[in-house]
Amino acid sequence: MQMRELALFAGLAGLGLALVSRPAKALVKDGVQLDGLEPEMVPAVHVANSVALELSGEPTTITSGLEGEHGEGSLHFEGLAVDVRRLDRHVDQFGGVHFIDLALAERQARAIRAALPSDFDVVLEATHVHIEFDPPHA
Ligand SMILES: [Zn+2]
Repeated sequence: MQMRELALFAGLAGLGLALVSRPAKALVKDGVQLDGLEPEMVPAVHVANSVALELSGEPTTITSGLEGEHGEGSLHFEGLAVDVRRLDRHVDQFGGVHFIDLALAERQARAIRAALPSDFDVVLEATHVHIEFDPPHA
């Protein structure tokens, strides 16, 4: 292996295997706090992103983490829930936000649920898909 190839190889290896299985990184909406997210949620983000790429060709957008307004006792505040943008979200020319394809959003939520262990709950909401890690209590 020549020096240039070696450098390239080392560079690619340094980028990590994540790039191989995840060609585009998940996007994060401005103001979303992911600091404090528990490691259990990493596969949830990974799966949500893979599903978005498969169904829309675009990475997922995380629209909520630990910040924001959620019900009292929400797992968001414990770093055990994220919201991701519905794939059918459409912004019109006046900036109005519409959700235009319920079947697509249902496919999105179903695919995320199917790819995660049963310890995760996936809920299709009016504006997003909520994913939380909520194993049964022993
Ligand atoms: Zn949520």
